[in-house]
Amino acid sequence: MRPTGKLHLGNYMGALANWVKLQDQYDCYFFIADWHALTSDYADTSQIAANTRDVLLDYLAAGLDPARSVLFLQSKVLQHAELNLLLGMITPLGWLERVPTYKEQQENLTGKDLSNYGFLGYPLLMASDILIYQPQFVPVGNDQTAHVELTREVARRFNQFYKLDGREVLPEPKVLLTPSPKLPGTDGRKMSKSYGNTILLTDPEPVVRQKLKTMVTDPARIRRTDKGDPDVCPVGDMHKVFSTPETLAKVYDGCRSAGIGCIECKGWAADALVKVLEPIQIRRASFTGTQVSEILEDGSNRARARAEQTMQEVRAAMQMSQDSAAGL
Ligand code: ADP
Repeated sequence: MRPTGKLHLGNYMGALANWVKLQDQYDCYFFIADWHALTSDYADTSQIAANTRDVLLDYLAAGLDPARSVLFLQSKVLQHAELNLLLGMITPLGWLERVPTYKEQQENLTGKDLSNYGFLGYPLLMASDILIYQPQFVPVGNDQTAHVELTREVARRFNQFYKLDGREVLPEPKVLLTPSPKLPGTDGRKMSKSYGNTILLTDPEPVVRQKLKTMVTDPARIRRTDKGDPDVCPVGDMHKVFSTPETLAKVYDGCRSAGIGCIECKGWAADALVKVLEPIQIRRASFTGTQVSEILEDGSNRARARAEQTMQEVRAAMQMSQDSAAGL
């Protein structure tokens, strides 16, 4: 996650909640991508440090466990930058230009000049972030598979050029496709920081209820007596993700028969959201500022040790290390 603001329910359902479960099965590395925040927000860096602490708190609040997973800050592990530089030497420009998000984001974020080297190169920085841990899997949603594909291509190219004692140094990681329901925001578009339509993991109950009240509904249901359809209603989508089967059944019946009004239905959705958010907010409040600093420091130290291990192999394979002549 990039530290560009507090995390929202979309981030939680689309990524964080899955990550929490993965901790039971895998050795996981989760980081805060502060260098990636610069790719679009380079002109104003004043919020990155505060946002970093907020994102770490959101991670911890959601249930990421620093005792089981490595939670770290990208810029505290300089090896990511070194690998990025080396991989940059072997990555054809065309590979970066054809990453689908490159043109998409340049067109969408019209307020920002994104014709920068860093922006073009961010998928390669991502590839470095991944490959430096020599992982088996990268847990991502569908929207990120192109990035992992690039990562695999770069690893393949590296392995073709360089080997260490005849063996490949950068294994090609596989996508671990995680179910990520696309959560709508209060305006019915995808919930996203950039649209200002989010419900934050830190929003207190009254704010959640107020935001739900303003949420758009089935556009065909104008009057209270009009029948509606939860399948074309963003509030209906919220119910599908967060409500119990019993509530969902009441929503379908009540909406399709005009037996309930949108205000009542939104109240039930708010109830469900508040229930999900409550334990997250209680856990968040249990961490002190000092703990946050210590967790980030400790996690970054662990990540750095692991990353340096890979870099020693990379440098040796490329014969860029004084140690390589004597072996590792
Ligand atoms: P934002 O659009 O708010 O800037 P990001 O693009 O930084 O969010 O997304 C970070 C992660 O959260 C990604 O894994 C993305 O798939 C997930 N995510 C973001 N918004 C949603 C959403 N509305 N529904 C599901 N997943 C989401």
